[in-house]
Amino acid sequence: MMGKNKLVRAFKTNGKYVWDIYNPAWPSKAFNSFFINHLHELEYISDEHMSLRRLLIAITKRCPLKCEHCSEGATLYNQDVLSYDDIISRIDPFIKKNVGQLVYSGGEPLSRFEDLVKLITRYNNKCDQWIYTSAYGLTIEKAKLLKKAGLNGAAISLDHHIEEEHNQFRGNQKSYYWVLEGIKNLQEVGIFVAINICPTKEYIDSNSVEIFISLAQELDVPIVNILEPRGVGNYQDKDVELEIKHKESLERISKKYNFNPAFFDSPTVIYPAAYRKMMPCGGGKSYLFLDYDGNLYPCPFCKAKMTLPTSDTELCEAE
Ligand code: SF4
Repeated sequence: MMGKNKLVRAFKTNGKYVWDIYNPAWPSKAFNSFFINHLHELEYISDEHMSLRRLLIAITKRCPLKCEHCSEGATLYNQDVLSYDDIISRIDPFIKKNVGQLVYSGGEPLSRFEDLVKLITRYNNKCDQWIYTSAYGLTIEKAKLLKKAGLNGAAISLDHHIEEEHNQFRGNQKSYYWVLEGIKNLQEVGIFVAINICPTKEYIDSNSVEIFISLAQELDVPIVNILEPRGVGNYQDKDVELEIKHKESLERISKKYNFNPAFFDSPTVIYPAAYRKMMPCGGGKSYLFLDYDGNLYPCPFCKAKMTLPTSDTELCEAE
């Protein structure tokens, strides 16, 4: 998938090795489940052996921000309809089938903090657990509770190296402040931290991505994960999708930092979209998205509903 290139670095955290945000740390039960499921995807044995590598779960519609690119803009800020028990009744069947990784998102998962902590505690040591977060309000007290619950990692959204620009993109004047606080507090308690960036065409054209990577390095963040803007939610019908030249630029940067030993001290720069040329999208097969109304989709961007599995049934697309 990476063209026979080898990453020049991995990271050791809490006695385990990590090399990106999508694969559970090694050694762990989560790592084994994740890659056994991957092998079953590659070579089918029987339905009984098929399971998911990753389940993304939107646990709330609440969010303190108002981001320019939000894919959930239409339903955000509405009342949550699923109780904690409703959520676990939907996740448990995947745990029984040894899902490798749970990723909690929203809305902002920290906006439903008590339930988030209960979920992480419930599935601690059963699989890898991450949050995708703006880090808004992520105090040291909350970081300690997340660590105690068993959170493995957090991908924090930062979209510009200039504070005012990031805050404007996120529609909140304190967003940048909380990104830095959240990174610091999670690092202090020993939770692995990565940064998610959604760079606009203008940001890439202004050659700012490498300035951003230097900022991540200054913040001691080992991984920068590049997500492409998509024409959904608030970006529906807007000319936001990256052109070939932007994609090529991001791919060049990703390869430079990941495979050139001269950049050993820099963060790993993940750009998953670059690998779609080599591998089909894993949505609906390797991973699924469970939304805050209990509906199951191939991913947060594809709105074709799937049916929920029980311990006896397999996943299938709804009619
Ligand atoms: S933090 Fe996430 S959920 Fe909240 S507005 Fe921004 S993109 Fe949407």
